[in-house]
Amino acid sequence: MDIQKNLIGGEWIAGQESIASINPSDTNDVVGRFALAEAAQVRQAVAAARAAQPAWAATTTQVRSDLLQRTAHELFARREQIGELVSREAGKTRAEGIGEVTRASQIFGFFAGEAVRYGGENLPSVRPNIGVQTSREPIGVVGLITPWNFPIAIAAWKIAPALAFGNTLLLKPSEETPAVASELFRVLERNGLPAGVANLVNGHGAVAGAAIVDGVDALSFTGSVATGRKLAQSAVAKMVRVQLEMGGKNPLVVLDDADLPQAVECALNGAFFSAGQRCTASSRLIVTDGIHDRFVEALRARMREVQVGHALAAGTDIGPVINQRQLEMIQRYIAVGKDEGARLIEGGNVLERSTPGFFMAPTLFVDTRNDMRINREEVFGPFATVIRARDYEEALALANDTEYGLSAGICTQSHKHATHFRLNVKSGLAMVNLPTAGLDYHVPFGGTKGSSFGPREQGSYAADFYTLTKTAYIGH
Ligand code: ADP
Repeated sequence: MDIQKNLIGGEWIAGQESIASINPSDTNDVVGRFALAEAAQVRQAVAAARAAQPAWAATTTQVRSDLLQRTAHELFARREQIGELVSREAGKTRAEGIGEVTRASQIFGFFAGEAVRYGGENLPSVRPNIGVQTSREPIGVVGLITPWNFPIAIAAWKIAPALAFGNTLLLKPSEETPAVASELFRVLERNGLPAGVANLVNGHGAVAGAAIVDGVDALSFTGSVATGRKLAQSAVAKMVRVQLEMGGKNPLVVLDDADLPQAVECALNGAFFSAGQRCTASSRLIVTDGIHDRFVEALRARMREVQVGHALAAGTDIGPVINQRQLEMIQRYIAVGKDEGARLIEGGNVLERSTPGFFMAPTLFVDTRNDMRINREEVFGPFATVIRARDYEEALALANDTEYGLSAGICTQSHKHATHFRLNVKSGLAMVNLPTAGLDYHVPFGGTKGSSFGPREQGSYAADFYTLTKTAYIGH
């Protein structure tokens, strides 16, 4: 099998070692082999991006917009084919894979518009005969580190704004999803990417990822809390602007007056779809007394109906988890939950299917307390708990009693409670009668507390990270 290379300075360059990308639905299926960049190649990529940056920043906004628009068109036209690759490599269902590529296309399309739309402000000075003008300038060379759970969408929402605003970049994708990253770079290249403007360095986190901080002007990371904290420390020590999107332990509050079928669908989708491998997944279902038993029974019934299986098989609702390590981690949390006295009422077991893969039954614990480890730590799998609450006030307090703060949802027919929740929940995203996951591409995304650090991603807010604001004073 050919070893696919890294794109550095417009050349596809081999590495000394390589990794295999394995299909989590069928471990006999090797998606590809990929060269691993060492620290020296990362430095080469930073240098290539640095050399390409002035010319890229000097292009017209139309040139930048055209690259993004053409990329959007190709991704959309090939969404089924590339979506299948996403499913094969990341274990998403076919619909989720196609949906994610469509999303990536929309993101490139949105930033094709932003490239020509962004501007500055004219402000009056407080002094006579002076005008003040703000403008946005590129920040320079941006390092991007991405996870495997949205291998093309997250790459897109970092690459597209970086390019739109005149930056050059290097991307270090997850070791789990190099094929999708390579495909995206081939699309960019085919649609006019100049040499060095965007560089791809597949590699190990601790080697290639850690090396990125040296020499870049800004670093955007999505991944685990532990890695994010480490990267933030080295970035700040080098005065590198940093943006982190990390985990969640997202609550979904269900009040007595909720529309029961709607609340059950919100929980089912938010907790278990995409095998729970979304940082916005609902993992704590906080349910008030009056609806608790009915909600739990109805959710269990729906959980039994969902099909877990090969991501590309017809009828699959939930694909595998990403790898053996993740499967074992979920199993460990199931043991922890039992030890802590929580009651496992659904799932908890690994599933056998006709292909060897990492299939995990959707899992539900009840009778849990918010201070249990299963309610404090992110599991990142099809794993949810139910926490019983007396009333809305207690439910809100429980929702906020967490180190995380990415997304939070409430299911209720009460305008008063929905409004109070939206205003008082400590999270970056608040969802009313909707799953905690499932977002648009043109609005800001990000959290508070331990979930996020730095400016918001996506939408016009992305400019706050990917540009520097200059303030000019003009006398006349
Ligand atoms: P996950 O457990 O979800 O894979 P990680 O934080 O380990 O989360 O991985 C997210 C991204 O961070 C991946 O691209 C990974 O290679 C990278 N990474 C892991 N460790 C480091 C590190 N020490 N420095 C920089 N990047 C890292």
